[in-house]
Amino acid sequence: MDLIVLGAAPAYTNRPGATSASYLVRAKGAALLLDLGQGSFTNLASTLEPSGLTAVVISHLHPDHFVDLVPLRHYLRFEFDPPRRIRVLGPAGLGDRLDALHAAPGFAATSLDVERLSAGAGRIGPFEIEARLVTHTDESYAVRVSLANAAGLAAGVDPAPGLVYSGDCGRAEDLVPLLRPGDTLLSEASFGAGPVPEGAEHLTAADAGHAATSGRAARLLLTHIQMGYSRSDALAAAQSAFAGPVQFVTEGDRFEV
Ligand SMILES: [Zn+2]
Repeated sequence: MDLIVLGAAPAYTNRPGATSASYLVRAKGAALLLDLGQGSFTNLASTLEPSGLTAVVISHLHPDHFVDLVPLRHYLRFEFDPPRRIRVLGPAGLGDRLDALHAAPGFAATSLDVERLSAGAGRIGPFEIEARLVTHTDESYAVRVSLANAAGLAAGVDPAPGLVYSGDCGRAEDLVPLLRPGDTLLSEASFGAGPVPEGAEHLTAADAGHAATSGRAARLLLTHIQMGYSRSDALAAAQSAFAGPVQFVTEGDRFEV
């Protein structure tokens, strides 16, 4: 699978060119989008023709993770006649949030087939998806994506390594059950080298490192660091907790998973 970082910013930032949470996973001609935060539609549309997406998965209902579904909806509605449609899986209420932005019932449904995401495993095209509730909002998910490998499973062979995306998460232990040895963990590290302020349901880079170690991940990719937090201090903190390769990702980065 190829991972393309379309947006790595948190809710706001002064980093030039930054756009908010969005990660594209491509394999076998399919393209799965994880989140679509502010500004990232542009990076999506300059990477692939957006109606070619297989599906979009939204981790939780904070705008920096879903608000660019609005330009995606407009694009599908106004660039094609008849409008094209895309499957969107997200927490309860996603369609209503989008409709409320336009004060128009049915706004989202014009072009988006919004479905409820729920904890557990499922298939989207060639991808095996496993979603797990994490501590953040009332309904926030982390997601593991891997290539479905029915033949390997039947033979008792470990499935291919996957990508575990934290979404936003306030408890690193929540991520561990999703990780399988050899996976890539793409984790938020909102508060860098820390500490996390009282009541903020987010992680430090060291928290992400501990999750990567506990889950025997092969690699740790850090993202979503808040404005004003040192990346070098955060990297050092992550490296003190995880012995494998660690880096911060940025818009345009590509990785093979
Ligand atoms: Zn959030």
